[in-house]
Amino acid sequence: MDKKRDLLDMDFEELLEALTALGFPAFRAKQVYQWLYSGQLDFGSMTNLPKDMRAKLAEEFAAGRLKIADKLISKVDGTRKYLFELEDGNIIESVLMKYRYGYSACLSTQVGCRMGCTFCASASLGLVRNLTVGELLAQVLNIIHDIGERVSHLVLMGIGEPFDNYDNVMTFLRRVSREDTLNISYRKMTVSTCGIVPKILEFAKEGIPVNLSVSLHAPDDEIRKRTMPVARRWSFNELLYACNEYTRLTSRRITYEYSLIENVNDSVEFAEILAKKLKGTLCHVNLIPVNTVEGIDFNKSSRNRTDAFKKMLEKYGIAVTVRRELGSDIMAACGQLRRNTLTRSGKV
Ligand code: SAH
Repeated sequence: MDKKRDLLDMDFEELLEALTALGFPAFRAKQVYQWLYSGQLDFGSMTNLPKDMRAKLAEEFAAGRLKIADKLISKVDGTRKYLFELEDGNIIESVLMKYRYGYSACLSTQVGCRMGCTFCASASLGLVRNLTVGELLAQVLNIIHDIGERVSHLVLMGIGEPFDNYDNVMTFLRRVSREDTLNISYRKMTVSTCGIVPKILEFAKEGIPVNLSVSLHAPDDEIRKRTMPVARRWSFNELLYACNEYTRLTSRRITYEYSLIENVNDSVEFAEILAKKLKGTLCHVNLIPVNTVEGIDFNKSSRNRTDAFKKMLEKYGIAVTVRRELGSDIMAACGQLRRNTLTRSGKV
């Protein structure tokens, strides 16, 4: 297939070069760039460009290789779930949450994932491919266009492992932080990893103050290996070392994600083991009552067990919160919509 080049894969200089090569003046490139980052990805609607230029652009280029295939809006809290269809027919999902401080978009970084966490809706479906920079951007730009408002926060916690698509993710983060694009401050962006140790160390040296979340979900190797295959590659101690290096080099606090699975990782004994390991480090623990996934056999921890776990961490002086559930009526959690769509259509 003769694929058109995606303007969203290009930074401004590259876009300028591509457009001037077609004979367009520099100020036109600037106009196109402004349209794109305002969320307008349809060349035909770029109304301050001459008609023949719009046609030429559509002929030569793509602007975001995906379209909204489905959209669900929660009646409970207004959370929006987008199912995007990519040009090659693959689907991914993104979620938009509304908070007091603004909109936060949760984006996918890969089509599928190869990390294999046992409790995750995306794991059994495997990795298809990485998302391009353009596809990362197109998710948030489509959302901005759809709501007609700016998005202030980004979390890379959708489908995929961001550090398994490291270079595209770094390019994306740098791009959206620019004043002439989305102007989202690094401090309002979060990357979540299942614990790819060398990438945590590399990320610490990027020099961008993006928040880091690490999915821990266990207090030691034994428990972690049961649910997260990545733990067989890097030990708990190696992971903790990398995280502490990260906080040392950046002076930034790490958030440890801990999904509570009933009778698997949610006892107070485990909370105490964890507390002893994290005590004195620059961190925050986010407890998430695990979301059940159709076809996978595990349960959410009860309120009582969650509270007891939390109290134990607090006893050791560790900052801890329990994550609020949003969009529970629209399968907003963790790859559920994509999984259901693929299952329904008989693709898996
Ligand atoms: N691959 C990255 C980011 C995507 S997953 C990572 O592992 O961090 C985002 C978060 O959702 C991770 O903490 C992941 O472990 C968690 N998660 C996955 N499935 C879940 C489920 N069924 N219930 C609760 N959390 C889940």
